[in-house]
Amino acid sequence: MSDFDHYDCPNCGESFAAHPSARAADTGYCSPACQTAGEGY
Ligand SMILES: [Zn+2]
Repeated sequence: MSDFDHYDCPNCGESFAAHPSARAADTGYCSPACQTAGEGY
């Protein structure tokens, strides 16, 4: 049920929970927008 891990977004610093299989767990960003901003695309 609660097999979510916690991550800290390197862009906005937000702590968020994401399932280990989710994309957010791969990127470490809380949202696609933060991934874009953080990676400078
Ligand atoms: Zn973020």
